[in-house]
Amino acid sequence: MLLKDKTAIISGASRGIGRAIALELAKQGCNIAFNYLKSQAEAESLEAELAALDVKAKATQVDIKDFAAVSVWVEETKATFGGLDILVNNAGIIRDKALALMSPDDWHEVINTNLGGAFNLTRAAVITFIKQKKGDIVNITSVTGVTGMPRQSNYAASKAGIIGFTRSLAQELAPYNIRVNAVAPGFIDTDMTQGLKQEYKDEIIRNIPLARFGKSQDVAKTVKFLLSNASSYITGQTIIIDGGMSLV
Ligand code: NAP
Repeated sequence: MLLKDKTAIISGASRGIGRAIALELAKQGCNIAFNYLKSQAEAESLEAELAALDVKAKATQVDIKDFAAVSVWVEETKATFGGLDILVNNAGIIRDKALALMSPDDWHEVINTNLGGAFNLTRAAVITFIKQKKGDIVNITSVTGVTGMPRQSNYAASKAGIIGFTRSLAQELAPYNIRVNAVAPGFIDTDMTQGLKQEYKDEIIRNIPLARFGKSQDVAKTVKFLLSNASSYITGQTIIIDGGMSLV
């Protein structure tokens, strides 16, 4: 088991990619603390699924936008689990709109969740990692943060911000033996992409060389790699997981 007896804190794991990451890491023996915002039933079912894998698991309802609440969550996690080794910044939302129609609320909600949330959780955990001279961070960005996407200027700005955050922190934290990497998924089959019209989905698939949407597990397996010794000389990188979409 690659992550036996380590403890990971994952934001937004009640559904989708975060949930798949939690399960993938737990299969490697990693204890999991995760948060959610609204999906209490899904969070409770994940907690049970994780416990069945013989690891410690705890779901906490905390808004990733709330710096004080996130700090309390991290302190409680350290006390309950007896330490902290891994941080995965995953919680994210979309509010797609042409900029000409975008409200300040659409802008701030996306930036404060996707980018502000990563700041809040990393800021709360980093002192522990620095003191113990050990820790691994993986941030979930998006291929949109690399290529841009019409009607996603708020989301693209937040996700491009995550890439800059990753590259800066990788340099800042390397002296403390802390690696910081990111993964940039393309179109992944989750609730986030479920609402897309079928004709639009068909058009997207025509532009993906591997001719399918990705699965949450495709992302989770790459996150596992970035948290394992197999990637011990990789830091500051963003691995694109998009079936080749950004190449064409
Ligand atoms: P999803 O299915 O919509 O799940 C989002 C997760 O984030 C849920 O667990 C949700 O909790 C949580 N969350 C949202 N706002 C939160 C907040 N304020 N505080 C705490 N938790 C919050 O999305 P997904 O597709 O799995 O996406 C996960 C990450 O991958 C996001 O960062 C997204 O931008 C990125 N990504 C996704 C795709 C894709 O195609 N799906 C592509 C590229 C990047 P609740 O369930 O409680 O609401």
